[in-house]
Amino acid sequence: MNREKIIDGKFLAQKVRQKLAEEIKARGVCPGLAVILVGDDEASLIYDRNKKKAAEAVGMKCDFYHLPETTPETELLALIDSLNRAEDVHGILVQLPLPPQINPQNVLSAISPLKDVDGFSPCNAGLLMANSADAVVAATPKGVLYMLQSVLGNLSGKHAVIIGRSNIVGKPLAALLLNHNCTVTVVHSKTENIKEITGRADILVAACGCPRMVKKDWVKKGAVVIDVGINRTEGKLCGDVDFEDVYAQASYLSPVPGGVGPLTVAMLLTNTFEAFLKQNRLKN
Ligand code: NDP
Repeated sequence: MNREKIIDGKFLAQKVRQKLAEEIKARGVCPGLAVILVGDDEASLIYDRNKKKAAEAVGMKCDFYHLPETTPETELLALIDSLNRAEDVHGILVQLPLPPQINPQNVLSAISPLKDVDGFSPCNAGLLMANSADAVVAATPKGVLYMLQSVLGNLSGKHAVIIGRSNIVGKPLAALLLNHNCTVTVVHSKTENIKEITGRADILVAACGCPRMVKKDWVKKGAVVIDVGINRTEGKLCGDVDFEDVYAQASYLSPVPGGVGPLTVAMLLTNTFEAFLKQNRLKN
């Protein structure tokens, strides 16, 4: 297998993290991140511990708040309020999904837009739609953009097809690629003739949570394929793209694991550093 086709997310993420660590050290600062998890979801616990480790490795402070599953919404909102005011906290993220007694919209709206490093608050989602430079761009779409630019450079005029329309991946990615002058099509579970549409894409991003759904006859020869999906089948991780099947058809493609996942964490740290600079009115 010609490994040059693989977009190595681990390597790219390492570069981003190293640059961040150098900048933080050179400035002699300590950006602060607060990660909140409500409940004991095993996968979320692993993700959040990884985020804490990654933040500390680049010289940030990271406080992990692990709250019981039964936490009332008022208590979570009170914690967010105190973190919004804390001068040593520059980024706040609340792990989704939340237990049913908590309304996620109330929680996302409560996070100060300046500290919303996940970019999921209505304010940042709106700023992204408006193509504002002030938008905090959600980490996964930002990581996908970074991967695409690493192999294509300028994305202007490319036809990008995104499989999935969630608020955390598909929709913000569509806005971001549109802002980078792609022609964007979003397909979802109700789309008819999906293969015909994906087969016209120069850039195909799969973010639907369907193990190995994308086969070679879904992909135009020479397309760049980014696999956001994280699925566990028979105890193993796999993406939404059938990597082996699509390999010969694509010009570049990202693997799972070792693709979008590591870049998502790196972009979360980048967002935290950028939030720190904004809150201290410093230049990047
Ligand atoms: P959601 O379940 O919120 O959204 C899935 C989207 O895919 C929906 O829009 C859904 O359509 C669409 N979809 C589902 N089945 C099909 C199908 N058969 N054909 C076409 N479209 C379909 O998932 P997320 O956006 O949160 O996550 C998507 C995947 O990405 C998951 O595997 C998740 O684990 C992974 N992920 C990975 C991250 C990373 O860092 N690598 C970060 C975030 C997510 P409809 O709207 O009609 O229901």
